Parts: sequence; C-alpha cells; structure tokens
Amino acid sequence: MEKTFAIIKPDAVERNLIGAILKRIEEEGFKIIALRMTHLSRRQAEGFYYVHKERPFFGELTAYMSSGPAVLISLQRENAVAHWRKIMGATNPEEAEAGTIRKDFGVNIEKNATHGSDSQENADFETGYFFSKIQIHSGAS
Ligand code: GDP
Repeated sequence: MEKTFAIIKPDAVERNLIGAILKRIEEEGFKIIALRMTHLSRRQAEGFYYVHKERPFFGELTAYMSSGPAVLISLQRENAVAHWRKIMGATNPEEAEAGTIRKDFGVNIEKNATHGSDSQENADFETGYFFSKIQIHSGAS
C-alpha cells in the first residue's frame, strides 16, 4: 500500500470545508493514517515548499500557507500519490475537471483548497516534515 501526503489549505479551512474534503478522501478508499490541524509559521511553510524557492510566487505562496490553520494528513491507498492528484484536479481550479476537489472547492490558482505530493519521494519528505515515524506506523497522532 502506497502513502501520500495531503493538506487542506487555509482557504478551505476558513470556508468550513474540512468535513466535505475528508468525506471525499474516505469515499475514494483512502485510509487516514495521521491527521493534525496546525497554523504553520512562515518559516515552516518556507521549509515545506523549499523545492519552489526559485518560483516567482514563492513569497505569496508561503504567506498564504501561513495565513491561517491548515489540516495535515498522511493517506494510504493503492496508487495513493497518483490517485490523490487525480481527484484533486489541476492546480488552477478554472482548468480542473468537473467533479474534482479543486474545481468544486478551489477559489483561484493559489487558494486551491488542497495540496498533494507529486511523487513518492516528495510524499516521503513531506510526511516526514510533519509527522514522526511512530505516528505513521501506529496510526496514532
Ligand atoms: P500543485 O502541485 O498542483 O499544488 O502545483 P505547484 O507545485 O505548481 O504549485 C504549488 C502551489 O503553489 C499550488 O498548489 C498553488 O497553491 C500555488 N501556486 C501555483 N501557481 C501559482 C501562481 O501562479 N501564483 C500563486 N500566487 N500561487 C501559485
């Protein structure tokens, strides 16, 4: 079974969408392995998005991700990385397919409701950034 890492981003938490998004996650056959709500500091957001540090929107992105509480989630399922990316939809909600989370719940290219790892390597890094091994192995967080 593969694992991936997801975030319900501050815009979705702010609009009371935690329940609706978790419902979709469970309906798609994911097991929630660990889950925590936290308000990231700017430095924590910068560390998380380190791979994007050269992108022109890095400053805006890290300011937004530290603007309010977010929900951090470790997920498990067959083909977890690709499947979570598929049901999230394209980065820009306007371009996302009908029925995807970003199409239904995203506001714009930045405030797009959820994050999902784009590779197994990044999933491992991102999960380890927020959860300890014991939380992932025991399922207790
Ligand atoms: P993802 O893998 O689909 O999340 O997309 P990226 O890795 O390309 O970008 C990471 C995150 O940065 C996105 O989910 C958005 O929240 C944000 N983002 C992407 N493109 C832009 C942009 O052009 N402007 C701003 N402000 N944020 C962006």
